[in-house]
Amino acid sequence: MTAYDTKLGLYVGGEWLDAAGRDTHDLLNPATGQGQASLPLASAADLDRALEAADRGFKEWRATAPEKRAAVMTKTAQLLRERANAIAQTATLEQGKPLVEAKGEVAYAAALLDFHAGEALRNYGRVLPRPSGTRSLVLHQPVGPVAAFCAWNFPILNVVRKLSPAVAAGCSIILKPSEETAGSAVEVLRCFQDAGLPGDVAQIVFGVPDQVSRHLLASPVTRKLSFTGSVPVGKHLAKLAADTMMKVTMELGGHGPVLVFDDCDLDATLDTLVAHKFRNAGQVCIAPTRFYVQAGIYERFAAGFAERTGRLKVGDGMEKTTQMGPMANPRRPEAIAELVADAKGQGARLLSGGERGDGGFFFQPTVLADVPDSARAMNDEPFGPLALLTPFDSEADAIERANRLPFGLAAYCFTENGRRQARLGDEIEAGMVAINNVRLSWADSPFGGVKDSGYGSEDGPEGVAAHMVTKTVHSA
Ligand code: NAD
Repeated sequence: MTAYDTKLGLYVGGEWLDAAGRDTHDLLNPATGQGQASLPLASAADLDRALEAADRGFKEWRATAPEKRAAVMTKTAQLLRERANAIAQTATLEQGKPLVEAKGEVAYAAALLDFHAGEALRNYGRVLPRPSGTRSLVLHQPVGPVAAFCAWNFPILNVVRKLSPAVAAGCSIILKPSEETAGSAVEVLRCFQDAGLPGDVAQIVFGVPDQVSRHLLASPVTRKLSFTGSVPVGKHLAKLAADTMMKVTMELGGHGPVLVFDDCDLDATLDTLVAHKFRNAGQVCIAPTRFYVQAGIYERFAAGFAERTGRLKVGDGMEKTTQMGPMANPRRPEAIAELVADAKGQGARLLSGGERGDGGFFFQPTVLADVPDSARAMNDEPFGPLALLTPFDSEADAIERANRLPFGLAAYCFTENGRRQARLGDEIEAGMVAINNVRLSWADSPFGGVKDSGYGSEDGPEGVAAHMVTKTVHSA
């Protein structure tokens, strides 16, 4: 069995801080439920030190040539690729996902760094037309030190999605990744450090989440909040951020509708959707969740979905044959079990799965059909391996039901009708819509939601722009 060997610590002002004299958190292996490492937690004094360092780091980094910033990022991407196997292993051991998925995260993270390195060089302002001898300039300047918090579901990518745009823009950052997946974040930060990022520019801290966020967001040093996590925590943090009027990016939960029309290529659609649904054990903010299927093909779709789901190989993410690993923490299987019991109690038909597994935090890939809108799972984000199937009659009915929740992150549509594709793209309330495919995440494309799913985008040029403020300079 592969042992967890990442040396955990806080990184503040260019120095790694260990557990001596600090509280600690036990890091678990989700495949076994057993502890495997001890994580130091930041004290209030550590957080003050991080704020002081970020203040210094911002002054240094905003004055650094964009070419230098880009070079550090490109080198970081190279180191991530070189260390992909070791970093992916850490991610799988602490988060549970199959190793191949963790390696995919590293590859995407490296591509994002490369893209944002280019954006650092493309920070063009504008020169406005004015009478000869006078000038009006529009400048984009880094917003200042960033406080960022991110969840455990993509332990490598979520971290890079916070660090990369901040570093490209010329900001400093204090990042609190999830305590449950600390090692992946530590490994990523070592790549930045080894690539030559000055010590004060990026700090990484762990702690009691509410204490850390209150501390960092109350400080006048912090000029931007960036958060990836649940809607309730996002709303709470946005309120804290309002007190100092800082800039905010919110990457929150979703409840992805999937609209499957009777003119789609059914077998190809099923193959694509089943693989995508159970990626990362369904713990994905853009996961396809509510499957609205046109009545004429509903029973065939349900049978095909259940049959493919039943064939998935569930196991330890370190095993080569595993297609779906355990859930990341003990809270998730418990939540999914409750949602399944509630839906069945309201008349849903269980077509596949429905039970927890042995040892670790396993839950079987599960398919429920005929799920009524009143079921809790149809309203709360399941964030797990749970597919909810229900039939629809007309396009208008499907769109109305897709839009009925406060979430607006990802949506998927399968139809060969071009006019309908255009209408769906226009009318579905979501930040990202995929038609006849499931890929919504690209380094050059903004990633984000509308409604309760948040505001602001990560990735693409928009991710870096979100770390800038606009200034005009008029001279005569
Ligand atoms: P959670 O909201 O308690 O935690 C999510 C993340 O936010 C964790 O990493 C946690 O450390 C951090 N967090 C929690 N409270 C915080 C605070 N006061 N200040 C700063 N950070 C804080 O939820 P959870 O039980 O870990 O995850 C379950 C829910 O989270 C899911 O139902 C899903 O909605 C949501 N989630 C969303 C995403 C996403 O990509 N949008 C990712 C992971 C989890």
